[in-house]
Amino acid sequence: MDLIIEGLSKTYGNGVKALDNVSLHIPTGMFGLLGPNGAGKSTLMRILATLQEADGGTAVLSGNGASIDVLREKDAVRRTLGYLPQEFGVYPKVNAYEMLDHIALLKGVTVKKERKELVEALLQRVNLWDQRKRKLSGFSGGMKQRFGIAQCLIGEPKLIIVDEPTAGLDPGERNRFYNLLTEIGENVVVILSTHIVQDVKELCRNMAIINKGKVLYAGPPDDSLREIQGKVWEKRIAKSELEGFAAGGRMISNRLVAGEPVIHLLGDERPADGFVAVEPSLEDVFFGAINRSNAQTAAQ
Ligand code: ADP
Repeated sequence: MDLIIEGLSKTYGNGVKALDNVSLHIPTGMFGLLGPNGAGKSTLMRILATLQEADGGTAVLSGNGASIDVLREKDAVRRTLGYLPQEFGVYPKVNAYEMLDHIALLKGVTVKKERKELVEALLQRVNLWDQRKRKLSGFSGGMKQRFGIAQCLIGEPKLIIVDEPTAGLDPGERNRFYNLLTEIGENVVVILSTHIVQDVKELCRNMAIINKGKVLYAGPPDDSLREIQGKVWEKRIAKSELEGFAAGGRMISNRLVAGEPVIHLLGDERPADGFVAVEPSLEDVFFGAINRSNAQTAAQ
């Protein structure tokens, strides 16, 4: 299975260009779509999930000798799609079992015995069996997301879209969710949209970085690290120097270590005395790409 997106564009009525000529090749496995808030991730996810129209471009899902035009053959897409949206609305008074049973019925699993087997298997799979009689309103963030995965797996989807799934999860819940995603991502296309670099680092073999509707990088995370090897410079500075470095435009990160700022700059040469070259991280790749693209827009 491959999803091939070419020249996808979307401008909202208020003039915001949410997608600007987006082209991506998304193979089987976990694909991270990484971008800051407002980058256009949800717009792309909603278009692929047939919930929104694009202005132009194509998206084709192909594999096993068949192909689906994602923008036109909406019914066919819906039959093969699992979607976990950012805001996942459920009836709060219903328990997990009843809700999953109801969704399975809506998705066309009409034979009662089949549905029972499916719902039970899914609850086990996402580790919510013990919570099956609990009302969804009492679920934690992590439990809600795992429930979301259970509902999105009904119908054995070949394309799974999860929009910002780990925002708001505590580290334990995030780990459980990661493990679950890794298991389901083996044989299908999973697109994981996120602004959290760690999500991509831990889960994805391929990724794209997007900002302001444009693709800034697409490829394996490891290749992106190689591209900035030897170009990331670190220094512990005084708080009073921070503003000056920030204004310089090359600062890609700034964190506190024992109360003192440690900054990273991106550049071909050592920026100044006291900077040492460090091993690049995916955060460096991400913030470097975003800073560069913001600086380019500002200069236009
Ligand atoms: P992300 O998911 O990466 O945060 P979105 O796709 O939600 O990004 O938004 C991309 C851009 O489009 C943002 O500038 C946002 O304000 C704008 N936008 C999103 N939805 C609408 C809408 N329905 N009408 C107008 N502008 C929108």
